[in-house]
Amino acid sequence: MATLISRFTDAKRVVIKIGSSLLVDSKNGRLRRDWLIALSQDIAKMRRRGQEVLVVSSGSIALGRNILGLKNAPLRLEESQAAAATGQIQLAHAYQEILALENIPVAQILLTPGDTEERRRYLNARSTITTLLSLGALPVVNENDTVATIEIRYGDNDRLAARVAQMISADCLILLSDVDGLYTADPKSGAEAKLIREVSELHDDILAMAGKTKTDVGRGGMETKLKAAQIAMAAGCNMFIASGTIPHPLQALEDGANSTCFIAYDTPRKARKKWIAASLSARGRLVIDKGAEKALNSGKSLLPAGVIKVEGPFERGDLVMVTNCEGQDLGRGLVAYSSEDAECIIGHKSGEIEEILGYSGRNEMIHRDELALN
Ligand code: GLU
Repeated sequence: MATLISRFTDAKRVVIKIGSSLLVDSKNGRLRRDWLIALSQDIAKMRRRGQEVLVVSSGSIALGRNILGLKNAPLRLEESQAAAATGQIQLAHAYQEILALENIPVAQILLTPGDTEERRRYLNARSTITTLLSLGALPVVNENDTVATIEIRYGDNDRLAARVAQMISADCLILLSDVDGLYTADPKSGAEAKLIREVSELHDDILAMAGKTKTDVGRGGMETKLKAAQIAMAAGCNMFIASGTIPHPLQALEDGANSTCFIAYDTPRKARKKWIAASLSARGRLVIDKGAEKALNSGKSLLPAGVIKVEGPFERGDLVMVTNCEGQDLGRGLVAYSSEDAECIIGHKSGEIEEILGYSGRNEMIHRDELALN
């Protein structure tokens, strides 16, 4: 039985969400450099033990409003977008400069909901981020606040972080903020409040506690944290709520500081396959040969060489069915090529794809992580 904290220390791919109140001093609106330096040492330690780390960082609006002299709350939409544009550049610069002290290259990624919700863009964002991770970079993600409109935005970085964790099949998400966990009552109210250490199911009693733990800065409260937990748990990702107010918050978590751990229902891989299997409408069909069928059954990806027939039309990223020549339904998956391009490369070796299509696409027609066999 895994201990709670091993769900953090043994995780392979960890998303860390950092709230505005941690990074930006509420008194003077400036970046808390020392805190970020300490955090980057914690991140370096995680990477040394082989963990992949991605940061979702808030703070652009809080930093930008100070730079622009926008002192009076609340900001109008266009003011917060202007503040985000100004603050984001400073935020990215701070990450780059401070992580460089640990020799960690930083990559900035600004997302809008379409990037995690629409499958075609989703596949692109997913592969860019996983490529960055495999190249040893630390992706620092924020919402693209300057272009997001009110209707089309995540709105808070708790949910954005959960969506990113889901998108990249992370197995651990840590929400660092000014609260150290979920309590049975508001700890600041004076009433007896007990910290809940572990949540394995989000039943109504837990959801009702959302209003009872108050956080005071940034957009997300406990409610958005529980929404993030819902997304993460279903995606196979364990999630921690932990305090970031101290220096070295990740080290403190490892050493047993207060936290609430929301336990994932599955592994990310199983969760992803379930999600694919449950996705309703398949847009097309790939008929594959015996060799490919054998390869799939032994856990391999579907290569263009093993596909005999393409039935479309479908676009890259669509869900397609996979059958053998006898018409037997083998499973379904997200296809890496449009039906038009797939037609051209079936029966060919992956090394020939670039020459045929004029661009270097994926080696796989359907990657095994995107495939759910029956
Ligand atoms: N994206 C916003 C920012 O960088 C933060 C949203 C949040 O506080 O959750 O300022």
